[in-house]
Amino acid sequence: MRSYLDHLECTYCGSKFNVDEPHRTCSDCGKVLYPRYDLEAARKALPRDTLAGRRPDMWRYFEVMPVRDEANIVSLGEGFTNIFPAKRLGRELGLEGLSIKDEGLNPTASFKARGLSAAVSKAKELGLTRLTMPSAGNAAGAMSAYAARAGLEAYVFMPRDAPEANMKEASITGAHLTLVDGLISDAGVLSRREAAEKDLFDVSTLQEPYRVEGKKTLGYEIAEQMGWTLPDAIVYPTGGGTGIVGMWKAFEEMEQMGWIDSKRPKMYCVQAEGCAPIVRAFDRGDEFAEPWQNAQTIAAGMRVPGAIGDYLILRALRESGGSAQTVTDEEILEWMRKVAGLEGIFVCPEGAATAAAVPKLLSRGELSPDDTVLLLNTGSGLKNLELVSASG
Ligand SMILES: *Cc1c(COP(=O)(O)O)cnc(C)c1O
Ligand SMILES: [Zn+2]
Repeated sequence: MRSYLDHLECTYCGSKFNVDEPHRTCSDCGKVLYPRYDLEAARKALPRDTLAGRRPDMWRYFEVMPVRDEANIVSLGEGFTNIFPAKRLGRELGLEGLSIKDEGLNPTASFKARGLSAAVSKAKELGLTRLTMPSAGNAAGAMSAYAARAGLEAYVFMPRDAPEANMKEASITGAHLTLVDGLISDAGVLSRREAAEKDLFDVSTLQEPYRVEGKKTLGYEIAEQMGWTLPDAIVYPTGGGTGIVGMWKAFEEMEQMGWIDSKRPKMYCVQAEGCAPIVRAFDRGDEFAEPWQNAQTIAAGMRVPGAIGDYLILRALRESGGSAQTVTDEEILEWMRKVAGLEGIFVCPEGAATAAAVPKLLSRGELSPDDTVLLLNTGSGLKNLELVSASG
């Protein structure tokens, strides 16, 4: 198999870069770089039926993945997670066609596995050996796991109050873990300093071009698993937004390859009331999102005060006819219990946030009861045991 990878392109100014050397962001404007593929050639060589019988993970889409040599794939079985119809939850919410894509089934128990499998594979292919990242959560665990599997060195900088599961998974897979007294931004300062001193490659999301390629496979899978008909709406818990912009990229690529038509789901971004920069920017009609002050929420994956890909998220929401919605931490906890009790899926707080957003979207008339709606449960609640009690 061959990848149709062609070049890197800036999503803001359009500058092009060589894809066979390491790049992070655009050297002309500082914005996000996307890998681009020769989709004309892929269209001829790759009718969607050729996927049948391929490996049941995200690398089944190898031709539109950024790795040139299959031998460089670093995999733990990420992706191709189940989409479960959610009848009982749907009845509770007043939706006939509700389903949940359960990303808690991924290696390292979150969908960060997709992005880090792609980024670590490409780092290996480019000859990079030492990776770093500031993280307060699942990204660090995933980077550490994939780096271990590839035999690369991982450096992780974490706030001391990060979830226990994330510290332990980084530690047990042999990452150099530094606990920082302070916030994720303080961890970022340390990570950048060490990166400069020790020549480490920073794989913070959308600040290197490949994690989004892992996350975009969500979009490929949703189309393939739903029989090449996309749902009417997708509800996504948004932090850095890599998943939502990744799906949007996937839909465009699939249309260019003739795999789907031009109909798109309405894309809904959910954030916590205590950290909602994208919701605020969407409501104001802004192109970029101002950083959120004093970000606070129990959902670590959505505690992202400023996202470098803000303009890409906002574009996707607007082009899709979707919108952005906040939920409270109390609602998140309430819906963790409801989803688990109704569907048997122990969702993470971020996944619960998508369910909590549905009644609001229905009452605002943005969703209608006969819409087919897909919720993304981005991780397993088993990584957040500190949030639930065994009683009541
Ligand atoms: C990182 C994370 C998110 C947010 O993902 P983005 O692509 O950064 O928006 C949501 N849920 C969980 C469990 C996460 O770890
Ligand atoms: Zn640029």
